[in-house]
Amino acid sequence: MGLEELISKMKREGTLRSREIEEALRRVKREWFVPERYKKEAYADYPLHIGEGQTISQPTTVVRMTELLNPGKGMKILEIGAGSGWQAGLLGHIVGRKGMVVTVERIRSLAEMARKNLERAGIRNVRIVEGDGSIGYSDEAPYDRIICTAAAPEIPEEWVEQLKEGGRIVAPVGRDIQRMVVGEKKKGGFEIIHEEGWYRFVPLIGKRGFPR
Ligand code: SAH
Repeated sequence: MGLEELISKMKREGTLRSREIEEALRRVKREWFVPERYKKEAYADYPLHIGEGQTISQPTTVVRMTELLNPGKGMKILEIGAGSGWQAGLLGHIVGRKGMVVTVERIRSLAEMARKNLERAGIRNVRIVEGDGSIGYSDEAPYDRIICTAAAPEIPEEWVEQLKEGGRIVAPVGRDIQRMVVGEKKKGGFEIIHEEGWYRFVPLIGKRGFPR
């Protein structure tokens, strides 16, 4: 399957809806973010190993989460779990010059790989931070959007604190299999506005994550 075929499939299935995400998929090519030996499988709709026991998520999952996140031009977005850097790159393209993405990765070799991949893709508004994103990243807070690409036991209070009012969080929640949870910070507090699933992510490790 090639990129255009994958895009058609995701549109047909109703996963890919927004014009901005479609453009980002064409511009920030998944083939630049998968290991060399998987180049031929870059547009197959399944996750691929990226080393250190981690994976680049399935395209359908990445697109669905991006649709749920509803990112826009000029926004500041926090991602937890940089991995290959692909999700962050797509978001970087969508938020544009006036926006920025901060992505946190706990495994050094992956943070370095993400940096290299994003550089090769010509994405300049993504900052990669090495560390424990389970407590967010307060240095750049507050954020318009927070997206987590590892399975969390629950939504950590630090993420909610670091979110702007009116902001949104998308994260897979659960141990072995996960529900995709969408929540918004409102005047009255944090509110879950949508849940769907099931998904299977690698675990969030760290202070607010699962014990290793
Ligand atoms: N968004 C990635 C998918 C990465 S898989 C992509 O587009 O390729 C999830 C990643 O979360 C893994 O790389 C894992 O190392 C990382 N991770 C797990 N717990 C973390 C934590 N507490 N802080 C930062 N990264 C974490």
